[in-house]
Amino acid sequence: MSTSPETLVRISNVTKTFKRGSEEIHVLSGLDLEVKAAEFLALMGPSGSGKSTLLNLIGGLDRPTAGNVQIGPDRVDQLSDRQLAAWRARHIGFVFQFYNLLPALSAEKNIELPLLLTHLSKAARRQHVAAALEAVGLTHRAKHHPNTLSGGEQQRVGIARAIVTDPTVLLCDEPTGDLDRKSGDEILALLQSLNTDHGKTIIMVTHDPHASARASRTVHLDKGQLSNNPVD
Ligand code: ADP
Ligand code: MG
Repeated sequence: MSTSPETLVRISNVTKTFKRGSEEIHVLSGLDLEVKAAEFLALMGPSGSGKSTLLNLIGGLDRPTAGNVQIGPDRVDQLSDRQLAAWRARHIGFVFQFYNLLPALSAEKNIELPLLLTHLSKAARRQHVAAALEAVGLTHRAKHHPNTLSGGEQQRVGIARAIVTDPTVLLCDEPTGDLDRKSGDEILALLQSLNTDHGKTIIMVTHDPHASARASRTVHLDKGQLSNNPVD
């Protein structure tokens, strides 16, 4: 007997309004989204439509103006700043378009960073870093600094850093946006395998139809709302 996968991310009636001077920018207006555990969701939409804003709300980097953001049992929109930082460290892995690696640190030291917020021993941290490096196929580059790595390799380090804490959700904001097609496809294959082989729940913002083709579901953001249909 199989049970249907549980809903992991539950966003209901979320509104996000930014103020710029006296002007109000209504980015999200009463948006609903549910993502199941072990889904790989692609989030598409025109530039400026609010994709990063939505990802930041899910990852607890920002708060909604109104509405609920729930991940598992946690109401993320109701956590204090202090609670939010601890919650993020435990539950969220972020992958950025421009990698956001620290240039002064080697690949392995970059990957270890999120673990410094945990209570793991040095030996345990080393084990987790080694496993993450292996998962992204970069064991042989452990001691390299970012500026000696290709873009695709830097993004692999970014992914290793995002998965090293075994987060509940992996959030990727245009992870192939700065890569050529071949490196981008390798990154997408890696994300797909983290989803299918390791059951990682992934929400990925992308412009690229090649990227969304790797996902198990695609939703489109336009005018503050989500739909299942592409925007013309
Ligand atoms: P996307 O990722 O889809 O390109 P964003 O979520 O980055 O879009 O931005 C959506 C809209 O919200 C844009 O008009 C952007 O200028 C505005 N915006 C985003 N963040 C802020 C902010 N911190 N303050 C004011 N406006 C913002
Ligand atoms: Mg964006």
